Amino acid sequence: MVQEKDLFEIIYIASANRSGSTLLEHLLGSQDVVVNCGEFRRIGDFYSENKKAIRDPQNTTACTCGEKVSHCDFWSKVQSESGLDFSKDKFTSQVNAVNRLLFKIVFFLFGPRLTRKTANFYPPFALEMKSAKNCFRVFSAIHKLNKAKYIIDSSKMIYHFLLLKTAYPEKVKLISLVRDGRAVSMSSVRGERIKFFMGGRFAEGINVQSIRQRAFRAAVKSWVSITIQTLIFFYRLPSRERFFIKYEKLVTGLNEVFEEINSHLFDSELNANQKLSTEVSHAIGGSPSRFKSDFSEIKIDDSWRKYWTVDHKKAFGYFAAVLNSLLGYQQ
Ligand SMILES: [Zn+2]
Repeated sequence: MVQEKDLFEIIYIASANRSGSTLLEHLLGSQDVVVNCGEFRRIGDFYSENKKAIRDPQNTTACTCGEKVSHCDFWSKVQSESGLDFSKDKFTSQVNAVNRLLFKIVFFLFGPRLTRKTANFYPPFALEMKSAKNCFRVFSAIHKLNKAKYIIDSSKMIYHFLLLKTAYPEKVKLISLVRDGRAVSMSSVRGERIKFFMGGRFAEGINVQSIRQRAFRAAVKSWVSITIQTLIFFYRLPSRERFFIKYEKLVTGLNEVFEEINSHLFDSELNANQKLSTEVSHAIGGSPSRFKSDFSEIKIDDSWRKYWTVDHKKAFGYFAAVLNSLLGYQQ
């Protein structure tokens, strides 16, 4: 269990997929005082190689070190130190959609401390707290083995952040990472990824163009929903416990963003000379081949603009367009 003497903090990255969280977690994870876990809530699926649950066709079941998670030296040591079993214990939500909605409402209205009290007499919330506490047993083990003061969890989902925040309110801070909704939606349906938004609609007789349009609309809706939910809970937190980053600013002004995050979330304990490392990391849900080479090459990926059509603009729609311009993206 997490005890008072465990002096570490969780920096949680919430974002939609395809928003640049890999770059951000790598930037922070390059520091000696930081360990980056990647999308930790999915450790069970990765450990058991549950490919169906992992879904993203681009993901392998490997740790970013290249080994399978079940064979990775880092995660083996962490598992045994934590006293948990990655194939059996739960690290993510275990309740249905109604109870998740209820959890969000209670958190929004009453904050983490009262939500935690509710878990004492409402069993579905107690179940959620059990998963969150399991996550902290693992974080505590990482802290013990690596002496890291900060642990990056980039599980992305804002709901999972709420679970961690409720279990240990004083130990978790939030980074909200956003990117131009057009870029996110276009990138989400590129290549193999389109399957993620198609459901079972491979049926014959439907023309390919209409499938593409529908998948694109689903990706837009998903971006809107994730972004709004994330912002609602972002602004619910005290300002010292949260930080807002735009992907585009991160890429074009890496030094500046680094300094801001450092002073706001890390008590200026990060080392500016250590900004990006090529050392092996042990993150869940990342791609092992990335960020091994030259970091001076990082540029905004705006290749989506080449493929952006009037149809896309129409499908992006009024609602997404308003949200996008509220975030400061010019139409
Ligand atoms: Zn590894």
